[in-house]
Amino acid sequence: MLNDFTAWVHERTNDSFEISLKKIKLEELPAGDVLIKVAYSSLNYKDGLAFLPGGGQVLRSFPVVPGIDLAGTVVQSQDAAFRAGDRVLVTGYELGTASSGGYAEYARVPAKWIVPLPDELSFREAMGFGTAGLTAAIAVSRLEQSGLRPGAGEVLVTGASGGVGSMAVALLAQRGYTVVAASGKADAHAYLQMLGAARIIGRGELLQDESARKPLERQRWAAAIDSVGGDTLAGVLAAISYGGSVAACGLAGGGELKSTVLPFIIRGVSLLGIDSVYCPMDIRMLLWQLLSDDWKPAQMDALITKEITLEQVPQHAAAILSGSLIGRTVIRIS
Ligand code: NDP
Repeated sequence: MLNDFTAWVHERTNDSFEISLKKIKLEELPAGDVLIKVAYSSLNYKDGLAFLPGGGQVLRSFPVVPGIDLAGTVVQSQDAAFRAGDRVLVTGYELGTASSGGYAEYARVPAKWIVPLPDELSFREAMGFGTAGLTAAIAVSRLEQSGLRPGAGEVLVTGASGGVGSMAVALLAQRGYTVVAASGKADAHAYLQMLGAARIIGRGELLQDESARKPLERQRWAAAIDSVGGDTLAGVLAAISYGGSVAACGLAGGGELKSTVLPFIIRGVSLLGIDSVYCPMDIRMLLWQLLSDDWKPAQMDALITKEITLEQVPQHAAAILSGSLIGRTVIRIS
């Protein structure tokens, strides 16, 4: 087996940080039960943060290989659950944050983080979903557990052209919901329509301005999947119909939430917190099975808008933080 391999490494020396693409040795990877040859990884908002000097509060250990997602083949395993040759994927836990992740030709991880890759998914497709797809799937399943059914009315997706947003639009549309996509990008309208959005509205049409917002607004949305947070989420909560739910996934527009309790106590609205990082393994396995089968969007190829190499990661990491990317970016590693 090759001993020197290519990896992005984020290092700290005293108070300065260095991020470089370099050759490292297998011994430099963290301890773990399973060594994986990485075929594909992907780019998420959190990976963008990991490329800021110091890691934008995402990185918790140095040196570290970033990359919160990976799909590849098991090379060696000390855990009976996996054998050399198994096709696997890993997202979340400490991957690419406190433990070395997917932006390298090899990764070593604890067996308990690993999902066997469903036969129906290629490595590329698995990373087309990645953390964004799993997050959107958790959000859809939580909304349905809260009683949402097709025919209930319009379901809003904010940050719709982003990774989580575009996956949410595609999954909801495929499951028969009437999806309204809220996007700040005029050039993403055709893309969102192709994913199944019934209607597209601009970010400005959501009630973002706190001073202009009433605690309860006209009941517009049966439910919502929000990856923007901040004033957008506050405005969405005020406009959810009686008994509806909002799946809060992200903070691309801000981490503060200035709301009142009125949507909750007058309209019975529920705010559902969505976390993909420590999503329990039984739910994870079930959702990956669904994503590989019934829930797999017909437009899967189109959801993967870019395929890049490890060398091209920095410029795309900056682009995802500026909110300018559309859809999902996968990284071909080996
Ligand atoms: P992307 O950058 O791909 O998508 C974010 C989208 O939000 C953008 O494309 C843009 O969509 C919109 N947006 C960006 N900036 C602003 C702004 N200032 N105001 C309003 N809208 C904005 O990122 P991801 O999809 O990877 O992640 C989205 C969010 O979800 C992040 O905050 C991320 O940390 C979080 N996340 C959470 C997870 C969890 O487990 N809870 C898992 C994965 C992600 P448009 O132009 O269409 O409006």
